[in-house]
Amino acid sequence: MTVLEVPTTPDLLDFDPDAAIELLRAWMTARGEPAYRATQVFARLWLRPVRSFEDMTELPKALREALTADFRLSSLELATRQKSTDGTEKFLFRMHDGQLIETVAIPDGDRMTFCISSQAGCALKCAFCATGAMGFQRNLAPSEIAGQVRELRLLNPPIIPTNIVFMGMGEPMMNWKAVGPTLSLLNDARALGIGARHITISTVGVLPGIIALSERPEQFRLAISIHAPSDALRKTLMPVNTKYPLAEVIEAAKQFDRRVTFEYVMLGGVNDQPEHAAQLAQLARDCRAFVNLIPLHPGGSMGFTPTTTPVITAFAKALRARGVETAVRRSRGLDIAAACGQLRTERLGRRAPIAADEHREIGIA
Ligand code: SAH
Repeated sequence: MTVLEVPTTPDLLDFDPDAAIELLRAWMTARGEPAYRATQVFARLWLRPVRSFEDMTELPKALREALTADFRLSSLELATRQKSTDGTEKFLFRMHDGQLIETVAIPDGDRMTFCISSQAGCALKCAFCATGAMGFQRNLAPSEIAGQVRELRLLNPPIIPTNIVFMGMGEPMMNWKAVGPTLSLLNDARALGIGARHITISTVGVLPGIIALSERPEQFRLAISIHAPSDALRKTLMPVNTKYPLAEVIEAAKQFDRRVTFEYVMLGGVNDQPEHAAQLAQLARDCRAFVNLIPLHPGGSMGFTPTTTPVITAFAKALRARGVETAVRRSRGLDIAAACGQLRTERLGRRAPIAADEHREIGIA
């Protein structure tokens, strides 16, 4: 079973599907209820979610009251909701201890991608990242990571994702304990039912996490934030490179049995020169990676300047000329501070920690 904290009453949203159903089944059996009630309740957590046991009106009232007494069904408080002119929506959620996390919903044709957070803050301090600047606050529980998806499904009208990317706040591989069960909740047909190939975990290259992901039988996708093609440059942008240097990250990508994506944020005059393209192409070819070039999201980007569009185009061309499949990502939500950590930073400045009852002034947009 997967419980993160040891609460007096367990939060059903913290358990992966097998564990939750097992727990409910044992509880139903002990009460003399038929076992099918367990899957009936579970279906109302994620698949056709309701806010409370009270709302599970297909259950007898006495059973709903007993569930309320013995289990929790936590929720995240929506603090802010902002919509970009391009349709991207950004949500700031407040958790029980006052911590704030961000979720972004990005529509694109018939796709709806959710960018979700795995930690409040982040310990890694990448030089261009707003979340890094706020420092690490705490790990999120499965109820808070998968809970972001649940909350958007509970809106009226609901927002239903087709794709999930772990590219919000935090480093998912530094919180594998919660990310592991969360992946089951996202993917399992009895829970959120999102295809594994539509779920991408993005990491700076935390090796134990990459190994743990490769051991999962599902075809989850792996993206690695490379951002610089040499240790010397990467160290200056990503302090984590000291612990997990490029060669080891590339080797892990090579061992990964599915094709990986390199993320490469284009920093004007820093990592966007022709020699960088040549070096990056070599790394990508070593492990047959696909390269995503990401325009720097300027809001809260810590003094870096975005690479100009013609230079990005030339960089992509140089990669393709060397046989590397390359895409240039469009920046979304430019008017709503939609990149990693930008909304929370915009709202709170860079102070820590955040007390539970501060910031009540943030209204729902
Ligand atoms: N910690 C993980 C996942 C969260 S960040 C990781 O680093 O991969 C998701 C992606 O957004 C990373 O590639 C990160 O480097 C990138 N990013 C952070 N700040 C950005 C900014 N201002 N503009 C564009 N991309 C940014």
